[in-house]
Amino acid sequence: MFKFLLLIAVIAGAYYGYRYLNRREAEKAAEKLRRESQQASGQDMASRAPVAQKPAQPASEDMVACPACGTYRPASAPACDTPGCSANKAA
Ligand SMILES: [Zn+2]
Repeated sequence: MFKFLLLIAVIAGAYYGYRYLNRREAEKAAEKLRRESQQASGQDMASRAPVAQKPAQPASEDMVACPACGTYRPASAPACDTPGCSANKAA
């Protein structure tokens, strides 16, 4: 009879121990997910910031329409690549 009770105790202990470990694993996984998502958003911002800061020129620049092809380009740009473009010929 004592062996039977001991067996039940061992099984119950294993069951609750398993549940306890499972819960801890789930919590760890959730924590890991949370950290990874935070890192991902951090990397997102880190990868976006340099792109936004990259242009050495001012953020806003006047655009001028090409007289020949009508394409708008920055005033500081040399000329458009359209063949036969007057701005291209001038340059
Ligand atoms: Zn042009």
